Amino acid sequence: MDVSFEVRHKDLLGRVGRLRVGEKTVETPAFVPVINPVSQVIPAREMKELFGCGIVITNAYVLYRRLRQEALEKGVHRLIDFDGVVMTDSGGYQVLQYGDVEASPVDIALFEEGIGSDIAVPLDKPTGLVRRGRAEKTVEETLANVRATMRVLGPNPRCAWVAPVQGGVYRDLIELCIDEYRTMGFSLYCLGSPTPLMTSYNYKPLAGMITTARLRLGVGPVLHLFGAGHPMLFSLVVALGCDLFDSASYALFALEDRYLVADGTFRLEQLSALPCSCRVCSSTTARELREMPEQERFRVLALHNLSVCFEELSLVRQAVWEGRLFELLEKRARSHPALYEAFRHVCDDERLAEALTRQTPISKRRGLFVYDRLSMRRPEVRRALASLESFKLDADGCDVAVLLNYRATAVRNHSRLLEKVAELVESEDFELLTYGTPYGLVPFSLVNVFPHSQTTFPPSLVRDLEPQLVSEIIRRLKQARFKKIVILDWGRDVYPGFVRGLAAALRQELEAEVVVLRRR
Ligand SMILES: [Zn+2]
Repeated sequence: MDVSFEVRHKDLLGRVGRLRVGEKTVETPAFVPVINPVSQVIPAREMKELFGCGIVITNAYVLYRRLRQEALEKGVHRLIDFDGVVMTDSGGYQVLQYGDVEASPVDIALFEEGIGSDIAVPLDKPTGLVRRGRAEKTVEETLANVRATMRVLGPNPRCAWVAPVQGGVYRDLIELCIDEYRTMGFSLYCLGSPTPLMTSYNYKPLAGMITTARLRLGVGPVLHLFGAGHPMLFSLVVALGCDLFDSASYALFALEDRYLVADGTFRLEQLSALPCSCRVCSSTTARELREMPEQERFRVLALHNLSVCFEELSLVRQAVWEGRLFELLEKRARSHPALYEAFRHVCDDERLAEALTRQTPISKRRGLFVYDRLSMRRPEVRRALASLESFKLDADGCDVAVLLNYRATAVRNHSRLLEKVAELVESEDFELLTYGTPYGLVPFSLVNVFPHSQTTFPPSLVRDLEPQLVSEIIRRLKQARFKKIVILDWGRDVYPGFVRGLAAALRQELEAEVVVLRRR
């Protein structure tokens, strides 16, 4: 089966792209709903009609045990009545849940080929949350299964085969797994068994696992995450480099009378109104929903939950396209303290920061919203700070530096502004620098360069960062050896007292003469 992947837009490690599998195409990132082949609460065909769903995943092991002959005769697409991309999981998760499978890896693989699966996973041994020794064993077994499977399938298998990466929370095992698969020539990978982490809200190690896998893989291969769970995680898993992720949460939550929203979950009995306008919620009330017969309620809730998942997926795609995925992460991080913890961990991970910065475009369709210290960790800000650091402030050999409130630069006529500054300073020989943004000292020649004038921030952020900003300004000015520093106190101060504080600090720390001039 021919597989190709085209990246069209990227932001952080997330990408909007097109995955071609044989004759079929899937837009990524893709949420891949889990279909129970025995009883579909929402038929796959309906998912396609209602939400444009192009890919689903179903369990080959369940088919093998319960509908083997029918599946082989009809093929999996006819069996589940879906003409999009069908991915089959081999039953690895059932191994985790119910013990050993009554079929060999090769039996299942030949079955997956036999039923015409588009994307297939060899039988793996999910690691789950176990001790080191046990984790090593699952990796060994998974690798042995995959080797045996690929040997039997030969060089031209009918399905696109995915390499199942195991190793649980042990980074080196994940890396070992990936290194082994690389020698086998896989272009699709899936990261296994984070479900125990999901159900215990343990998102930090989950983020670590995805990061490890993506950094080891590089940006080329397509990465699928097994069991992405709640839609509030979608932006995070995409930002860390997952192109596909499956989830059965729409049905599992519905089964427990739980109503999903993008940033949380309500129990049905807690709802007084339905905070959604999907086709379900716009035609019923919370009370009517509660009073529905069980089977109908399950279906209707699953339909709403599914709608929330697809809506969140669209939002994530839009955020990648616009270059605002970080801002979506910041919002979703507030959905749950555990997710916030994972987000902070991601922001502080220096090995990840470099990769995120490398993959994030240099300019964006939209400006940046920067809120707090965490926002300051976003790649555009890091990159801007690094480029300011390499900018020599006294390259022209001027003796005088003029510090101008950044607000005063928001005028159309910059040459008129420069004339006014020259009049006031009574010289044409000065280096003009701006202050008052979270970026510290920004040379006037850069104020219109992305992201400086495209950054929107609350003044309270500058106040929060003041000690750090002032000491950075002092450090930079000391390096530059100006003889005189003129602070132009024009327009509204960044916040009351900022200029006074800055001038006092400069006078104390610099040998240069420091003068504050107000507008005449
Ligand atoms: Zn709804």
